[in-house]
Amino acid sequence: VKKNGKNGYQFYTAQLDSELYERIELEGYLRKALERNEMVLYYQPQIRTLDSRMIGVEALIRWQHPLKGLLAPDVFIPLAEETGMIYDIGNWTIREACRQMKLWHASGGPLIPVSVNLSSQQFHQSNLVEQVQNALTETGLEAKYLELEITESMMMDAAVSTAILNELSALGVKISLDDFGTGYSSLSYLKHFPIHKLKIDRSFVTDITESHSDQAIVATIISMAQNLKMEVIAEGIETKGQLDILMQNDCREIQGYYFSRPLPANEVENNFFVPLRL
Ligand code: C2E
Ligand code: CA
Ligand code: CA
Ligand code: CA
Repeated sequence: VKKNGKNGYQFYTAQLDSELYERIELEGYLRKALERNEMVLYYQPQIRTLDSRMIGVEALIRWQHPLKGLLAPDVFIPLAEETGMIYDIGNWTIREACRQMKLWHASGGPLIPVSVNLSSQQFHQSNLVEQVQNALTETGLEAKYLELEITESMMMDAAVSTAILNELSALGVKISLDDFGTGYSSLSYLKHFPIHKLKIDRSFVTDITESHSDQAIVATIISMAQNLKMEVIAEGIETKGQLDILMQNDCREIQGYYFSRPLPANEVENNFFVPLRL
């Protein structure tokens, strides 16, 4: 046990030491990741249940680490947030998603939107609107093909959120409320904020075939969205059974491993673009 003042650790263990070391090492690599082109966007198709057509994609970031291989966002997004690197990574993500979408549109791919996850810091970034506008202008993507995903917890300060969301909406981009139903905020914001789509969280879908309460919650969210003239999509569908119940409850859009995992751009093209070639 080692004591070294109020900023030091109370306990010194070899394990803590190696965890700390790994973190510092990861941080060093993360600082160089963008300039080394190691960040990659995967795209998960969003499917219309009526005809199984792809009606959108969600961009999900991965990091091709030079030693560790492909890393999931849970491994490095929290670190990026703690160190402020999330701003550069987030701006890159918006731009890259717009670039890819414009490329697909320009090369005969489907005219579908891309949705991009915003972290809380990015949402409150003073030049977010400018960054989004620049990404659209520089890539030539029409604003209506960009959706930004935020979570309920980002909207705790109603006045601030309203201002940001109104500015984003004025650009013509769409706003989706991610992980819907897992936050603690009041429903009243739904009528004040310009929100276009609710994404029903996977936690309500996982046990939907057995759980009457999950079924009731999902059915309620869907009819509420319809009454509020919002779009609604369910996340995390892995089985036909889950899909059937969702369809019985009038869920028209879904996203999940049952149709596809998130894929590199070229695999989306290969698997989901309607072949014009004969
Ligand atoms: P999320 O936005 O809720 O994204 C959905 C996550 O669920 C993704 O994990 C996706 O791969 C996974 N998923 C999709 N369908 C299924 C399914 O049927 N079953 C299961 N078990 N999982 C499914 P992923 O890609 O690891 O992303 C995790 C989280 O990291 C995301 O959760 C999002 O909060 C964050 N994230 C991803 N990309 C970005 C990004 O570009 N920027 C920021 N700030 N956060 C990101
Ligand atoms: Ca999301
Ligand atoms: Ca989600
Ligand atoms: Ca999430």
